[in-house]
Amino acid sequence: MEYLRIKRSECPHSAEIRVTASEQAKCSQCEATQHLRQCTSCGGVFCCESDRAHNTEHFKQTGHPIIKSHGTPYDFLWCYQCNAYLE
Ligand SMILES: [Zn+2]
Ligand SMILES: [Zn+2]
Ligand SMILES: [Zn+2]
Repeated sequence: MEYLRIKRSECPHSAEIRVTASEQAKCSQCEATQHLRQCTSCGGVFCCESDRAHNTEHFKQTGHPIIKSHGTPYDFLWCYQCNAYLE
C-alpha cells in the first residue's frame, strides 16, 4: 500500500508538535514494547497497528494529530488528520 508523503510545512497540524522525546519503553495502555509511537502533542507512548493500535485509539479519543516513531531505528512522523507521512 502506498502512503502519501507531504512536507512538514504543508501539514497545518505540524504547529502542534510539542514533544519529541520520551524515556518510556512500553505502551501506556498495554504491555507492548515493540513498534511504539509517541504522540507529539502530549508525549504519550502507544503501540501501533501491528499490536493493538492504541496510537489510533489515542488519536480518536483526543484528536492529537501527529505521532512519531519511538525507539525504532528509523524515524518518521505521521499525521492522522492529513493521513500522510511528514518529511
Ligand atoms: Zn496534518
Ligand atoms: Zn498498546
Ligand atoms: Zn496525545
